[in-house]
Amino acid sequence: MRDWPQKPTPHYRAAVFLDRDGTINVDSHYPHQVESLEFIPRAIDGLKLLAMVPLDIIIVSNQAGIALDIFTREHMSQFNVELRSRIEHAGAHIDAFYFCPHLEPRHLPPGGSPCACSKPSPGMLLEAAKDFELDLSRSFLIGDKTSDIAAGENAGCVTILIKTGKAGREEGALPIEPKHSAENLYEASLIVQSYLGKKEKVRYV
Ligand SMILES: [Mg+2]
Ligand SMILES: [Zn+2]
Repeated sequence: MRDWPQKPTPHYRAAVFLDRDGTINVDSHYPHQVESLEFIPRAIDGLKLLAMVPLDIIIVSNQAGIALDIFTREHMSQFNVELRSRIEHAGAHIDAFYFCPHLEPRHLPPGGSPCACSKPSPGMLLEAAKDFELDLSRSFLIGDKTSDIAAGENAGCVTILIKTGKAGREEGALPIEPKHSAENLYEASLIVQSYLGKKEKVRYV
């Protein structure tokens, strides 16, 4: 599901997909209160670097706290508004935010079937690819959990695991190897930049 924008405007034909909690902001157990929003060191630097490469910047985030009644969709949206405003204030930006409001596979009763959007499923990436007319094989996924990496791989993206947040050691971690590993979002962004060269950002719509 898309939280924003209301109407997608594709700028490029490829994207960098970012996890939110543990990748951009501190994962303080279902973060949803604006007052508790705290950026991970170097995350803003990473976003500023990503603003220089020809990729749409799209957050894909499991928000099972909605299904678990920990917070509402409105709380999540308010948190996102604050996140975005601080990112824009720093001179970077986010182009879209997709979320899964359903239970994650680990919350389901035995035999329960997961939705198509909760990572490790690639549903959010596929939805964004449709909206933004993306070539997923030229797109990237950066996240702190193996379920992020699995979603990226399931969608055919270049995957980068970062060592902030859960650092790939979440409960029930999946036996999956990322294409690259990096210390934080800034270092992951350097890897993305190395794929694309340092040429100036030129929109090709
Ligand atoms: Mg995370
Ligand atoms: Zn879902």
